[in-house]
Amino acid sequence: MSTDYAASRVSHEGADYWLRRNDDGTKSLVIAHAPQAVLDGFSGQAEGDVFVAPADADNALALRKALPWLTPRRWGLETSAGTGDRLGLATPGHAQAFKDVGGVNPVFAQQSTREMGRTHRTPRNVLDDATWGAFQEGWTDGVGADADHQKTEESLSECAEAGFVFFTIDPGDGMDMAAHDDDEATVREKAARIDLSSLDTSTDDVVSRYAGQTIELESGPLVLDEESVLRAVAKAGPALVRGLELIKHVEGLGVEHELEFAIDETDKPTTLVEHVVVVKELQRAGVELISFAPRWVGQFEKGVEYIGDRAALAKNFSDHAEIARVLGPYKLSLHSGSDKFSIYPSFVEATRGVAHLKTAGTSWIEALRIVAAHDPQLLRDILALSLDSFEENRHSYHLSCDTSRIPSDLPDDRVGELVTELDSRQVMHVGYGAVLDEYGTRIKDILTTHEDEYAALMKEHFIAHIAPFGKR
Ligand SMILES: [Zn+2]
Repeated sequence: MSTDYAASRVSHEGADYWLRRNDDGTKSLVIAHAPQAVLDGFSGQAEGDVFVAPADADNALALRKALPWLTPRRWGLETSAGTGDRLGLATPGHAQAFKDVGGVNPVFAQQSTREMGRTHRTPRNVLDDATWGAFQEGWTDGVGADADHQKTEESLSECAEAGFVFFTIDPGDGMDMAAHDDDEATVREKAARIDLSSLDTSTDDVVSRYAGQTIELESGPLVLDEESVLRAVAKAGPALVRGLELIKHVEGLGVEHELEFAIDETDKPTTLVEHVVVVKELQRAGVELISFAPRWVGQFEKGVEYIGDRAALAKNFSDHAEIARVLGPYKLSLHSGSDKFSIYPSFVEATRGVAHLKTAGTSWIEALRIVAAHDPQLLRDILALSLDSFEENRHSYHLSCDTSRIPSDLPDDRVGELVTELDSRQVMHVGYGAVLDEYGTRIKDILTTHEDEYAALMKEHFIAHIAPFGKR
């Protein structure tokens, strides 16, 4: 028996739309009372007095055109959160959480180029899956779409073509982390060598522009001394140049867009002076940022609580937030933000909600609870394969897991603990590429068969993430 998703039913311009689950687990869009001109946009067929179309890529595009709230839009300075979904099955549960909390704007479609490579998904796949998921839950309050951690012109073009509107520019590979701690002579030497001509400036110009300046923040003056400015140039100069190239590329595409500048995937915290110099130089080049993702103090590891001094982090949040208010305003973005429940309140307070929360892999790792419950042996196999590829994967991520602590003798009814325990959780968190290659179909089958269970799990998990950002 096919079943209709009651929550999906929506009316627009006299026509009714809903989603149906077919006997074989596939899904179809059903349309009633629509004029022929609307139906012409979809590929499907009449069945009795309704029109039925497969939930495929072409029809996702047509649906975004027919129901404008499914077309990605910019959120500007409004509070927002990106959920990420490597499997393409998590959006219904995400949407339930956003409905429940209220006041937080969703970015369901969000995936980095690295993740798309490992999951063999295109920007269109990511967007289409998010479209069907949002539609299934009857989400009508608008959606964003984040082309996350973009490092090349090619992938920016692909994401723009697919319909993404939020571009996370990541020139972090060009950061010189050693310059964070180099002695002053080395910093001077490094800074002098950096070519800033594409920003129509030079290191000497930058020094004369900022050294000795004071930024009046709410909590007091921030003095930009010469050494700190030089250090900012030495550390972030090449990233600034590369970032501007990527931004100019986006601006040249002629698409609706908003920009986040992300230097979070680096080893050393972003200094306050670095924040000021980077943003002011981008602004001088005519760039308007909507969001900035610094590297905060402490450790932001995948899928686990914040590791570090929470009071120091709260101070770090408020320092950067004060700068963002004076120079912008623009949002501050909290990356690797999943499962860090203890720090959301201080982040929201510091930014006054001019904030973006970004989670990527937590929907993947949590999905493995459903796998553990229904096929414990598959979960063991997933862990084994993740361990095989761990040395290769761990380079891309910040992790503190110790594989020797992972138990290998858990009975079926306790296998789910492997999803909770830090060591096995992190190993599986980053092992998704190889695991999906090998077991993707079986995992997706389990999640599709038990989709209500997965949605309920996602709902609770994301309420815990976004409630501190929501209506209070
Ligand atoms: Zn990030």
